[in-house]
Amino acid sequence: MKTAILSVGTEILFGQILNTNTTYLSKELQDLGYDVMYHYTVGDNPRRLKELIGHIFEDCDIILTTGGLGPTQDDLTKEMVCEAMHDVLVENKEELAKIESFFEKTGRPMTPNNIKQAYLPSRATVLANDNGTAPGFALEDNGKLIICMPGPPNEMKRMFVQKVRPLLEEKSDGALYYRMVRTLGIGESQLETDLLDLIDGQTDPTLATYAKDGESLIRIASKRKTKEEAMVAVDEMLEKVKERIGQYICNCDYVELSDMVTSKLLAHNISISCAESCTGGLFAAALTEKPGISAVFDRGIVTYSDRAKVEELG
Ligand code: ATP
Ligand code: MG
Repeated sequence: MKTAILSVGTEILFGQILNTNTTYLSKELQDLGYDVMYHYTVGDNPRRLKELIGHIFEDCDIILTTGGLGPTQDDLTKEMVCEAMHDVLVENKEELAKIESFFEKTGRPMTPNNIKQAYLPSRATVLANDNGTAPGFALEDNGKLIICMPGPPNEMKRMFVQKVRPLLEEKSDGALYYRMVRTLGIGESQLETDLLDLIDGQTDPTLATYAKDGESLIRIASKRKTKEEAMVAVDEMLEKVKERIGQYICNCDYVELSDMVTSKLLAHNISISCAESCTGGLFAAALTEKPGISAVFDRGIVTYSDRAKVEELG
C-alpha cells in the first residue's frame, strides 16, 4: 500500500529539531510491508496542511502524521485533518475524563485549552496516549486512511507499538524482508559494476548499493505474501551476491565492525591494546563502548608527537 509520512511542525522546517519520528516510522513501515513513497514536512499553517493532505492522497492510500495534536493554538493537525477527511470534531467524554484525572494526579491546574485535546473527529478510532495527554486517532474517508500521532517521540513510539502497528499488521497486503550486507575493501562503484546484471534485471528481490564511511552496503529486499517467502527469495539472491563478491563481505546482518571485532576477541579470549596517533583515541573509545570488553582490552595510548611515538612505542 502506498504510504506517506507527514511531519507537522515549524520547528522541523527551521532545522531546530531532527526529524527522528520519520526515520523511526519509515523503518517500521518497511518491515510491515508498506511502501513508503514520500516524506513530507509542513509548518504549523492550517491552509498548507489541509492542501497537502489532499495532494498526498492523490497518490497514496495511507498517511501517518506526527505532531500538532497538543493543546496550544499552533496545534492544528486534528482540525485540518478533520476538514480534509470531511468530518467534524466532537467532544470525547472518555478522553476528557482522562485529561482531567491527569491534571488532578499531577496537581497542576488544567487550563481551558486542554479541553481541546478531548475533541476528536466523530468517525475516528481513538488511539490512547499512555505517555501524555494528547490522544491520537485513525480516520478513514473514501478508502483513504490517515493516522495521527503526537510529536514527542516517546509518546509517538509507544502509541505506534501499542495501537498503530497492530492496526497496520491487519491491513498489510504483504511482508517485506531485507538483509544489509556489509562489505569492506571494495568501493561502491566497483560493487555496482560487479553486480550490475543482478541490479539491472531486478524486480523482486531488489538490490541496491550504499556507500558509508569506509564501507559499502548492499540491501537485498523482497516483498511477498508471507515473510517466509520473502526470506527464501532474499537468501537465494544473497548466494548469488556471495559468488561474485564474497571475499569482501564482512557480515550480512548489519552488524557494526566494532561489534564483530569485540565478539571475536571475547569468543577467542584474545587480549588487545592499541596505540593511536591521528585518531586521538577514537579506536579505544569504540572498543570501550562495548559491554564486557574489559576482559580483553588492556590499554590504549595516544602518541601524537613524533617524540611520543619514539619514547612510548620505540
Ligand atoms: P504536544 O502536546 O507536546 O504539543 P504535539 O503532538 O502537539 O505534542 P508538537 O507540538 O508538534 O507535538 O511537537 C512537540 C515536540 O515533539 C517538539 O518540540 C519536538 O521536541 C518533538 N517532535 C515533534 N515532531 C518531531 C519529529 N518529527 N521528530 C522528532 N521529534 C519531534
Ligand atoms: Mg504541540
